[in-house]
Amino acid sequence: MAASKLIGKRPEKLGPRVQVVRVDSTSPTMFAILSKFAWGTPFHWWGNRSHVCTQETHQECENCKNGWPQKWRAYLHCERIGGSLVEECIVELTQTALALLESQVMSRPNFRGTLVQISKTKGGAKGRFVISVLERMIPEIELKAENDPQPVLEMLWGWNKKDRTKIAS
Ligand SMILES: [Zn+2]
Repeated sequence: MAASKLIGKRPEKLGPRVQVVRVDSTSPTMFAILSKFAWGTPFHWWGNRSHVCTQETHQECENCKNGWPQKWRAYLHCERIGGSLVEECIVELTQTALALLESQVMSRPNFRGTLVQISKTKGGAKGRFVISVLERMIPEIELKAENDPQPVLEMLWGWNKKDRTKIAS
């Protein structure tokens, strides 16, 4: 092992390693779902960025009172499968996309191990989601452990504990 040539602490790694994926292509991307259940959350969209909504956790929310538009998204910890490349990611779905996915896995106890192809009818934000679940599943023994998407999202959105307390008080 090479000796360190630094005195003092190295900086914290910037940002999380796991990426949030928003599918917006007409060519399907294949995902293996690691999460048992989707993680859904409301948030506010204002000034070109997302802000926390504390309505559910604190019964009241300053951003709701301000009338900032609210959005809702669901998140699933997945592996993106493309050719020989397998990459962990968090897939973002709309309410409609999640409903489409749920309707195709009714007989399964949860999402884990499900293979799904996701695309859009049109490229970009205007296209509707096309969700196609494969009959074949990935066996449990071949699946990585699932991670809670929440900490990754809170880091990406800059929702730290300080913000939450500030809003709560
Ligand atoms: Zn709110």
